[in-house]
Amino acid sequence: MNEVYKQPTANGPQATADPLARIRGMIQSCIQCGTCTGSCPNAFAMDLTPRHLWRLVLMQQKDDIFQSRTFVLCSACYYCTLRCPRGLPLTEAMGGLKQIAAKEDLPLYKHSIRFYKSFMESIRRHGRVRETEFMTLYFGAMKNPLLPFRFAPLGMKLMGKGKVGVQIPSKNDPNSLDAVFRKAEELEGKDEG
Ligand code: SF4
Ligand code: SF4
Repeated sequence: MNEVYKQPTANGPQATADPLARIRGMIQSCIQCGTCTGSCPNAFAMDLTPRHLWRLVLMQQKDDIFQSRTFVLCSACYYCTLRCPRGLPLTEAMGGLKQIAAKEDLPLYKHSIRFYKSFMESIRRHGRVRETEFMTLYFGAMKNPLLPFRFAPLGMKLMGKGKVGVQIPSKNDPNSLDAVFRKAEELEGKDEG
């Protein structure tokens, strides 16, 4: 039977000083069996396998962890979480690494973080992503005037196939998820405190 993960206390001095401590707590009973790697549909594209990444977390190798793109490529499919024989919350742990990278604004992840934030901002405003607005927000966040040209051929192709349209954002979108996002931010703030 899978072990149940228990949230470690956040009151210890180490938990507040080391941002990886919470994630180490999540995966501390990893037995390095490699089931997570064998289950991950994105492992082929990762520079470190998920099993290797968890080993580095346990060994407190922060530099190596944050030179890897493995956690950025996690698409939160939950396969590894479902199959881990120790019942570890691996998808949540991957998300925790993404949060640290975003909070510390690490240059290696700048593109991914801006892309993700722009995507979520569009969802927050409309309850679904509006592709043209999402990409406009992303280009603005990246502050690189040449970036839109890189995406132009793909955008034209998608527009030609009717996959992407031009939407005019309305300020009072009835599908806005603003209240849900604000509540989530409030809860996250409580967790961190
Ligand atoms: S499946 Fe679970 S126990 Fe096995 S290597 Fe991955 S995290 Fe560790
Ligand atoms: S949740 Fe992430 S790490 Fe786990 S199997 Fe899916 S993509 Fe891979």
